[in-house]
Amino acid sequence: MNLLELTWPAVKALDPNTPVVFPVAALEQHGGHMPLFTDSLLLGEVVRRVAERQPYQNRVLFAPLQWLGNSDHHLDFAGTLSAPPRVYLDLLTGLLDNFIMHGFHRLIFINGHGGNDVPGKQVVFEARQKYRQRDDLMLLFATYWNLGGQPNAANSSLIQTQMGHACEWETSMMLRIQPQLVVGDLTKLESIPFGNAFEPASRGWITRERTTPGHIGDPRTASAEKGETLFTVFADDFARMLDRVLAWDGRSWNG
Ligand SMILES: [Zn+2]
Repeated sequence: MNLLELTWPAVKALDPNTPVVFPVAALEQHGGHMPLFTDSLLLGEVVRRVAERQPYQNRVLFAPLQWLGNSDHHLDFAGTLSAPPRVYLDLLTGLLDNFIMHGFHRLIFINGHGGNDVPGKQVVFEARQKYRQRDDLMLLFATYWNLGGQPNAANSSLIQTQMGHACEWETSMMLRIQPQLVVGDLTKLESIPFGNAFEPASRGWITRERTTPGHIGDPRTASAEKGETLFTVFADDFARMLDRVLAWDGRSWNG
């Protein structure tokens, strides 16, 4: 079900246990070869592939994709639009509050931008504290490439083993859905290593200290065929997460 297409009485009449999905992404620089709307386009495709599957068509409510993300670390690159971190916390908290007020219990953020990960987890943590008298809420935040799938096991031609930025993975997915938006000769790009920034400590960072062109990873060997593998793996992962949300008994810690 698409929230955009429903009337308010139709939403009011839904089973309050209907999972509500909020896709969240970004509009930010993606190197010299990829469009600013990359994260939103890619997450939109993952969600589209899952939303159209028969088991979810009438059992899951999908809100429209929130394209404004927390992208302050990319602001040295022109065109980036960002909700500052604390604004972003309030933005996502508002979405949860709205749908808790509307009576729903199972609220899931599906995320397509790395910069949303820390504030997104903080949002579901804080909301759980705020609604601590309730014992019927499930508040989840999930990033689509971190749901357990192993793209490299599905397609051995993939080089990267983790998500970068405007990298082999993202460039391949864009070549799969909107190849006309990938510009220039990919083979002339440089591979930007992920590096080791004092790991396992978590270092505060801005993008320009890690990359000059804006991408991180190796987009040189991206292909539409790799992109199809990635979309298949990530959509299946997200569908499995929705299956678990649908199967939740409404009370348990385990799911
Ligand atoms: Zn991205």
